[in-house]
Amino acid sequence: MSELKPCPFCGGDAERTEWRERGAYDGHYSPQTFIRIRCTVCGAKSGDGVKQNMIDITEYKVEDFRNNPALRAAEEDRLAVVVRDSSKAVDDLWNARIAVEVSDE
Ligand SMILES: [Zn+2]
Repeated sequence: MSELKPCPFCGGDAERTEWRERGAYDGHYSPQTFIRIRCTVCGAKSGDGVKQNMIDITEYKVEDFRNNPALRAAEEDRLAVVVRDSSKAVDDLWNARIAVEVSDE
């Protein structure tokens, strides 16, 4: 995980929250992972962050996983890599700053 910069609005500490919701879509096993960066002081947040869904990375359906836990574990591992990469993308977005030149004139 990358280091999070302080809040761009108040300078407060930022924290990353990840949570997962189980679900199914059209016969596919589709847990979703939500990633959000939030300021612990003023509550500014990065929206709902990035959602990564199992359905985006696999063609297997719920019944395929039900009868094959090894397959499910392998696909969960692949999803974890995608989620990790997405987490970095959310961090990079939070950490992005636009340089503004301030004139003394
Ligand atoms: Zn803040």
